[in-house]
Amino acid sequence: VNTRFETSVPGLYAFGDVVEGPMLAHKASEEGVAFAEMLTGKAGHVNYETIPGVVYTGPEFASVGQTEEALKESGQSYVASRFPFSANGRAKASHNTNGFVKILADSTTDRILGVHILSEGASEMIHEALVAMEFGGSAEDLARTCHAHPTRSEAIKEAALGIDKRTLHM
Ligand SMILES: Cc1cc2nc3c(=O)[nH]c(=O)nc-3n(C[C@H](O)[C@H](O)[C@H](O)COP(=O)(O)OP(=O)(O)OC[C@H]3O[C@@H](n4cnc5c(N)ncnc54)[C@H](O)[C@@H]3O)c2cc1C
Repeated sequence: VNTRFETSVPGLYAFGDVVEGPMLAHKASEEGVAFAEMLTGKAGHVNYETIPGVVYTGPEFASVGQTEEALKESGQSYVASRFPFSANGRAKASHNTNGFVKILADSTTDRILGVHILSEGASEMIHEALVAMEFGGSAEDLARTCHAHPTRSEAIKEAALGIDKRTLHM
């Protein structure tokens, strides 16, 4: 399909699992909405850079954007920061310190390239990163955002601070 979901057969459109991209319900849904918008003369747009993936295990794993492996392969220069839940107050208080937050940012522009969270509740926490990426945000944008204490989400701020080696707790 092209960017308007048109197949090579005139009048036949396709989106969802049957076309390229992650085989996920929310990706198919976004494409369906975009297609409906296009049919009614509106812009219709899907940002394929910010489609989250979640593994619903215990702890959960949630991810958006590029992995370190993909960045290495493409030769893009990046900075990686990893913050463990063993240094997060809420995780300690609830006796569940499994996991970490990893943030990958462009080494020149600081733009967020990928966020990966292994944690209880990671499927909920990932959306903060998604919104930041949707707005073309930097690691510093996340680092300068005030986070409520004590929350597991503070680990995202700490990981973002770590891009500039300014992590507060370790
Ligand atoms: C076990 C399982 C668990 C999953 N869990 C998740 C999850 O947790 N989160 C997530 O995001 N995604 C999950 N997915 C993936 C998600 O279900 C798909 O990405 C999503 O349903 C794709 O939507 P779709 O509309 O492209 O296709 P589908 O939902 O598969 O819809 C296609 C429809 O076309 C119909 N159809 C097929 N052939 C014909 C025909 N010849 N004529 C008429 N109708 C036809 C089918 O019956 C079906 O209703 C899971 C998938 C599976 C199998």
